[in-house]
Amino acid sequence: MTKLDLFFDPTRCFIGGKWVAPAGGEYLPIENPSTGETIGEIARGQAADVEAAVAAAQAGLAGAWGKTPAFERGRILTRMGQAVLARVDELARIEAMDVGKPLKQARADAVALARYLEFYGGACDKIMGETIPYLDGYTVYTLREPHGVTGHIIPWNYPMQIIGRSVTAALAMGNAAVLKPAEEACLTAIAFAKIAEEAGLPAGALNVVPGLGEEAGAALTAHPGVNHISFTGSLAVGELIQRAAAKNVIPVTLELGGKSPQLVFEDADLDRALPFLVNAGIQNAGQTCSASSRILVHRSIHDQVLERMAERYRALRVGPAIDDLDVGPLVSGRQQEIVGEFLSDLGGGEIAARGEVVSGAPTGGHYLAPALVSGVKPDNRLAQDEIFGPVQVVIPFDDEAEAVATANGTEFGLVAGVWSRDGGRTMRVAKAIRTGQVFLNNYGAGGGVELPFGGVGKSGHGREKGFEALYGFSVLKTVAAWHG
Ligand code: ADP
Repeated sequence: MTKLDLFFDPTRCFIGGKWVAPAGGEYLPIENPSTGETIGEIARGQAADVEAAVAAAQAGLAGAWGKTPAFERGRILTRMGQAVLARVDELARIEAMDVGKPLKQARADAVALARYLEFYGGACDKIMGETIPYLDGYTVYTLREPHGVTGHIIPWNYPMQIIGRSVTAALAMGNAAVLKPAEEACLTAIAFAKIAEEAGLPAGALNVVPGLGEEAGAALTAHPGVNHISFTGSLAVGELIQRAAAKNVIPVTLELGGKSPQLVFEDADLDRALPFLVNAGIQNAGQTCSASSRILVHRSIHDQVLERMAERYRALRVGPAIDDLDVGPLVSGRQQEIVGEFLSDLGGGEIAARGEVVSGAPTGGHYLAPALVSGVKPDNRLAQDEIFGPVQVVIPFDDEAEAVATANGTEFGLVAGVWSRDGGRTMRVAKAIRTGQVFLNNYGAGGGVELPFGGVGKSGHGREKGFEALYGFSVLKTVAAWHG
C-alpha cells in the first residue's frame, strides 16, 4: 500500500468549521488508479451529513460569514490562493495519486485553483448594482445579493479547477457553499477545506461532504434549504439534478460535457495546429468535458493531417501518474471498460494509430493506449457520444458549410476550435457554430480563468469562470423608493 502523506484527515467531513466523522460511521476506499491499490479511505457522507452541512451553511449566512464585507471576503480568498500556491507540488502529488493524473497536469490544476482564488478574491468588491432613471419622485437601484446556500456537485476529472470556477465564485458573492466531491476524487476537495480553515474562512461558509452520488449527492440536490445548484458531470445525472431542482424551483448551472470539434481548413497553419489537435484529445487521458474528440479536416489535407497526428500518437507514452508521462491511467476500472467498449466496435472505421502503455506499468492500473480513429461516419456513435477517454476521430469535409453542419451535428455544444489563415472565415464559422466557446487558431487559450465557460444544447446551461460566474452566483434585487 502506497503511503499517503496528507496535511488533513481524509476521513472527516468539514461541516460548520469542524472536522466531523460521517454520521453513519461508514467509509469508502480511495483507489490509486495507477496501481489499483487502495491507499486510504474517505467519509461516506449521507443524508444526515448533508442535513448538517446545509444547516451549518444557513447558520454561517446568519452569522459571521453573512456579515463579512466584500473586501474582507476578497482578502480571505486571496490568502487561500497564496496557501494553494505554497502547496502546489503537494496538491499535485495528492491529485496524481487520487485520480491518476500525470504530475505536470495535476500541478496545472493546482495553479489554476490559485488563479481562481486570486481572480475572484480581487473581484469580490467590484461587482456593483446600478441606479435606474425612473419616474419623478422615485429613486431606483439594484442590489446584487447571494442566492444563500449553494450546492456544488463536482466530478473527478478536474476537482481543483472545478472547485475554483464554482465554489470560489460562489464564496466571492457571499454564498455559503456545500461541496459534494466525486467519490473517486475527494482528496483535493478536503485539502481545499483545510486551506480555507487555515486562511480564516468563517464557519459555515464552506462545507464539504464526501460520499456517493446517489446518497450524499442526491440528498444535497433534493434539499429544500439549498438555493442554487452547480453541477458538472454526466448528462444522465445532469437531467436528474435539473429535475430535482425543478421541484424546489431553484436555479441550476449544468456543465455536462461535449463532443467538441476542431475544424481544420485547407489553409490552416498545420505546424501550429498539430500539437493542439492531439493534446486536446489526450490531455487527462481524454477525461475532459472540453476534450476535442472530433477532428474535422478539409478533404484535400485529410490524409496529411491524419498521418501527422498518427505520428504523434505512436510517440505517446502511457504510464503511472507519478512518472509524469504523456498520459496516465483512466480513473477507474469502470471507465476503462466503457472506453474499451467503444473501441470494440469501430462502426466501419479503423485505428490509424495508438500510443503505447510503457512496459512495467503496474498490472492493476487502468491503462489504455490512446486511439486515433479514421473512416468513421459523422453519425456513428464514436463521432456522436462522449467517450471520456483518449480517443479521437478524424472526419473529412468538402466545404465550409459541411464543416459547420458536421460540427453542429451532435446534441452537444461546449467548445470548438477553428484553424484557418482566412480571418473572415474564422469569424464567420465562429458565429455559425453552436457552442459556449470557440477558439480561433488555438484550442483552450491556456484555460484562462477569465474566460466564461459553459455549454448550449445538452452540454448544459449557465456560465462559470470570468465575471459572468459572479452574476450567476448572485440574484439581482430592484429597489424602487418613492420620496416625492
Ligand atoms: P461520471 O459518470 O463522470 O462519474 P457523474 O455524473 O456520475 O459523472 O458524477 C458527477 C458527480 O455527480 C459526482 O460527484 C457524483 O457523485 C455525482 N452524482 C452521481 N449520481 C448522482 C445523483 N443521483 N444525484 C446527485 N449527484 C450524483
